[in-house]
Amino acid sequence: MKRETFRALAEQGLILDGATGSNLMAAGMPRGVSSEDWVLEHPEVLQDLQRRYVAAGSQIVYAPTFTASHIYRKAPVAELNRRLVAVSRAAAGEAFVAGDVTTVGRPEIPYEEMLENYREQIEALAEAGVDAIAIETMMGLPETTAALEAARAVCDLPVLCTFSVSSDGMLYFGGSVLEAAQTLEALGADAVGVNCSSGPDQLESVIRNLRGAVSIPIVAKPNAGMPIIDDEGHAVYPMGAGAFGESMKRLIAAGASIAGGCCGTTPEHIAALRAVLRGGK
Ligand SMILES: [Zn+2]
Repeated sequence: MKRETFRALAEQGLILDGATGSNLMAAGMPRGVSSEDWVLEHPEVLQDLQRRYVAAGSQIVYAPTFTASHIYRKAPVAELNRRLVAVSRAAAGEAFVAGDVTTVGRPEIPYEEMLENYREQIEALAEAGVDAIAIETMMGLPETTAALEAARAVCDLPVLCTFSVSSDGMLYFGGSVLEAAQTLEALGADAVGVNCSSGPDQLESVIRNLRGAVSIPIVAKPNAGMPIIDDEGHAVYPMGAGAFGESMKRLIAAGASIAGGCCGTTPEHIAALRAVLRGGK
């Protein structure tokens, strides 16, 4: 997708997908397995989910390439990303497919190593034919800068950068999301914002402050509420689709123009989001 096309779509309000991992687990993926390997063994489960996201209104679905990078995997990265993008592409229909990359997980990794890790994965994603690059669940600014620099070095696709933040807008590896967003805008990000983090109710002031800090589109892709830990120690996301839609309405009013869901959200949550964004159209 051309960066101008992405910008024009974002100005009209752009709908992303919802959770992948929590829905794959609900469909039988065991805890602790590599989701990339599991998806390649059960492609129809992810494809059914992504078809339901597109039917619910998602205009971009994320390929299941979250940790398909050298820092997480010994296996050849290019082939893995190519196969995973093909799984999503076969289900996406008219929707766009974003290549998904994430945090390296540790703040002490040298910048050059992060840059090479992201360059290898994003080059593979671009060659696999993705329409955009989603750099998500990021914990710090240096790793996000490395991922954006890598993307700009190997392709001219739209790049969305989203952080997992606490409700006061701080990044887990330190620093403020507002300063991070300004840096990423200056380095050529096409959109910035938050994903995962908490529920939409905790993010309204973060989104409003982001809207005031940068001029590129703002992304909101929160969880289905703050998780509750059940008796077995598993996170349960309590917010139903209707309540999620109502909360997302407030984040859109606060300045988010690109919206979706993270952990615990389903195609029903995306349908509720579409209803508030499009007024039922
Ligand atoms: Zn999440």
